[in-house]
Parts: sequence; structure tokens; C-alpha cells
Amino acid sequence: MPQSDRVAIVTGGANGIGRACARRFAEDGLRVVIADRDKESGRGLAEELGADRDKALFVDCNVADKLSVANLLAETRSAFGRLDVLVNNAGIVAKGDILSLEADDFDKVVAVNLRGAFLVARAAARQMAEQIDEDDERPDDCRKRYAIINMSSVNSVVAIPEQLAYCASKGAMNQMTKSMALALASRGIRVNAVGPGSINTDVLKAVLDDRKAMSRILSRTPLGKIGDPDEIAGVVAFLASKDASYITGECVYADGGRLALNYLSSSAS
Ligand code: NAD
Repeated sequence: MPQSDRVAIVTGGANGIGRACARRFAEDGLRVVIADRDKESGRGLAEELGADRDKALFVDCNVADKLSVANLLAETRSAFGRLDVLVNNAGIVAKGDILSLEADDFDKVVAVNLRGAFLVARAAARQMAEQIDEDDERPDDCRKRYAIINMSSVNSVVAIPEQLAYCASKGAMNQMTKSMALALASRGIRVNAVGPGSINTDVLKAVLDDRKAMSRILSRTPLGKIGDPDEIAGVVAFLASKDASYITGECVYADGGRLALNYLSSSAS
């Protein structure tokens, strides 16, 4: 199966980790749909990745909105005729602990990180299932072609008190990954998650200039550095590839060793 046969959607693909995933898929020869609310960055990236040669497409999409998600799938079908890989990556944060978090902020985070991921995954899984039925494909072949990758976080298993909504959404994302993996296994559609530690994107910008905050992060990062978006895209590319054909229902943590660490890291300055 040539990679150029495969089509991938990356939600939140205009910036940060999603942008690195879209770039990596394009390098690997997949056709890429960048689904994001940020039109300027999304369109710019699609042009860079070959929108004029039918290699990439930007779709203005709000994953929290059912109609917008239906439109994403319709545009993908109309441009490329099929879908093989989904990276459910769009995510937001809202500050607040159990004493201070506003209910509206809780709802906003869950609407994008969890319900949005569900809406896109459901639409993608239905599209994939239809293709599998139409093509009469064997599950063995499907395991090399079809993959859904949910962007989780180390905060699915450890927590930050003032990021209650975010931590709750990522914990639920891991359970959703398992439930989806089990439901789709007989068809050969694999579903996995990636759990990044601290990665150098806009989300972390405020911390990068703050020596004290940075030193706290590194004291919990045995590899002694903030991760690059490319280092997450590499794991996503692996989980989407035929090399991962026997992996489903897992979360792979790319966290510089954080989850393995009990006390503080000696590599911190
Ligand atoms: P980012 O803010 O750089 O990029 C997120 C992208 O999602 C943006 O392009 C944004 O426009 C888009 N987006 C936000 N809401 C959307 C919506 N409703 N519909 C469509 N697109 C939307 O963030 P990032 O750091 O690249 O994070 C990407 C994913 O990785 C998130 O799910 C995040 O929780 C996860 N993650 C990030 C880190 C980190 O340290 N950066 C760590 C663990 C997990």
C-alpha cells in the first residue's frame, strides 16, 4: 500500500503539535487535511504542503460543533475521496481548581477536548467503516491502513490542581481511546493515544521565559529538556504506520521520563 493512497485529517493542525503531525504526514507521502479554527496559519500550512497539487487541504473547522465536523468529512471526501488516518489533536486549557473553576470554563474545555474529539472520531470511524464494507477489505489489511490517534497528555494520569478541566478531559480521553479501540478492533481500525509531557508550543510560551517555572518543569523531566513538536509527530507517525499494526487501545507517553519519576530529577539545574 503506497503512502500516497492514504489520507489523514489532523484537527488543530494549524499550530503546535498538530502542525508538526501534518508536516510529518506530508513528508511521509500522505495527503493531509488540516482542520482548525485558525484560518491564517491553516491556509498557509496547506499551501506550503502542496494544496495546489492536491496534497493538502485546509478546512475551517470547530471540532466542538457537529455541523462543522460534518462539513470537515464532506470536504475531505470531496477533495480526496476517502479517509485513512485521524489525529484528534485540537485542545484547549482553562485555568481553575476545584474552588475557583467556573462551570462555563469546565464546559468549554470538555466541549473541545473530549466531546469534540468524540464528534470527529465518530464521523471518521463511520467513514472508515463504510470504506471497509464497500471495498470488502480484510481486517488484516485494514490494520495497516486505518488508524485513529487521540492526543492525550501526561495529565491523563497525573494532575495539576489549577488545570482541573484539562486533566479531567485527558483522563477521559484515555478511556475513550480504549472503548473506541474495542468497538473498532473487529474491523481492523486501530485506535491509540499519545501522551506528551511538556512540549514547546504556544501553550508553553509563557513558561519558556520564566526561569523559575522552567526549572520546576525540568525538575520533573529526567531527559532534561522540553520536547519538540516533531518528537510527538514521530510517535503519531509510528502509530499511524503499518509498523504499529498490532497495537490498539494503548497510550504511548512521550514525556522525557516524567511518569517514571517519583522524586525530583537530578538533571534539573
Ligand atoms: P496549540 O495551542 O499550539 O495548538 C492547538 C491548535 O488547536 C490550534 O491551532 C488551535 O487553533 C486549534 N484549536 C483549538 N480549539 C479548536 C477547535 N474548537 N476546533 C478546531 N481547532 C481548534 O496547542 P499544542 O500544544 O500543539 O496542543 C495540541 C494538543 O496536544 C492538545 O490536545 C494538547 O492538550 C496536547 N498536549 C500538549 C502539550 C504541550 O506541552 N504543548 C502537552 C500534552 C498534551
